[in-house]
Amino acid sequence: MKYLDEFSDPDLAARLLEQIHAATTRPWAIMEVCGGQTHSIIRHGIDQLLPEDVEMIHGPGCPVCVTPLEIIDRALAIAARPDVVFCSFGDMLRVPGSSHDLFRIKSEGGDVRVVYSPLDALKLARENPDKEVVFFGIGFETTAPANAMTVYQAKRMGVPNFSLLVSHVLVPPAVAAIMESPTCRVQGFLAAGHVCSVMGTAEYPPLAERYRVPIVVTGFEPLDILEGIRRTVLQLESGRHELENAYARAVPAEGNLPAKAMLQDVFEVTDRAWRGIGMIPDSGWRLSERYRDFDAEHRFDVRGIHTAESEICRSGEVLQGLIKPHECAAFGRECTPRNPLGATMVSSEGACAAYYTYRRLELTEAAGA
Ligand code: SF4
Repeated sequence: MKYLDEFSDPDLAARLLEQIHAATTRPWAIMEVCGGQTHSIIRHGIDQLLPEDVEMIHGPGCPVCVTPLEIIDRALAIAARPDVVFCSFGDMLRVPGSSHDLFRIKSEGGDVRVVYSPLDALKLARENPDKEVVFFGIGFETTAPANAMTVYQAKRMGVPNFSLLVSHVLVPPAVAAIMESPTCRVQGFLAAGHVCSVMGTAEYPPLAERYRVPIVVTGFEPLDILEGIRRTVLQLESGRHELENAYARAVPAEGNLPAKAMLQDVFEVTDRAWRGIGMIPDSGWRLSERYRDFDAEHRFDVRGIHTAESEICRSGEVLQGLIKPHECAAFGRECTPRNPLGATMVSSEGACAAYYTYRRLELTEAAGA
């Protein structure tokens, strides 16, 4: 199938792997900051085919995983209200808050609905003027344009009973925070192609320069990831630290200009807490003053809800590459995808969930050997 099979070609993958092996002379640690890439790396066993000296660190790239627990608790508080229809993409319904999840709210009679677009939630608001309809808007720069467009439409059409619970996060400030951590081991980055397809690549050369770290934009198929790793290793081995775009078929340097204009109109930059990492300055978006009436956190006054993360979860260390998921004592025991204790077990794109799905048996056999 075009665009799928051609980027999974085993002969081409073998050739790229040969080049990576031939180029590698020293240990390198490379981080992917995209849950889709993490899932693909583990699913296809790419990390196991790389030279021993090339380590992949699975960074904070899964949008569900980095959504803070207290935002989940605020969502639960809003969704439990009898006057609210709470809309979300399906993957957020089973993400546990500090005591329960949206499925529980639904089973107890709350009006929680899975939608496929924020525009579906806006339609529901227009059809149900006696209800407050809230859409749970989480994620990176990729999902933000559709949410921005929906709020813009709600304002333009005068739909006062629609609001957005916003928890958007931005990749470049996270890259900076990772590089400034005293425990940072990262020497090169794979940047997420879908984020750059919206935002373009202009934010990355200053980061590459400031932290003297190669950044290669790439996609999600095996060949995309291998090509991204190959280019990163070549830069590291030759002492270069530049931005390279290995995903030019989807990422123009300037990004998506209409989407960026919409984002600039509807959102403004704010500090955001990242689950498993903590507060990162200027690392998120909230609704700008012009659209503040559509902010669910203000409308339902849930900003006083604060929640602490699980004390036994080590996802912050997983996200910084300090440990692998199975090195957490709770992995596969107290913490599983059905009962996740922390950020990286919550979504299938999280590193702990990916290890659980694709490596659990292998790890169990190795432990028993
Ligand atoms: S296995 Fe569970 S508890 Fe351990 S780091 Fe991963 S998410 Fe946290």
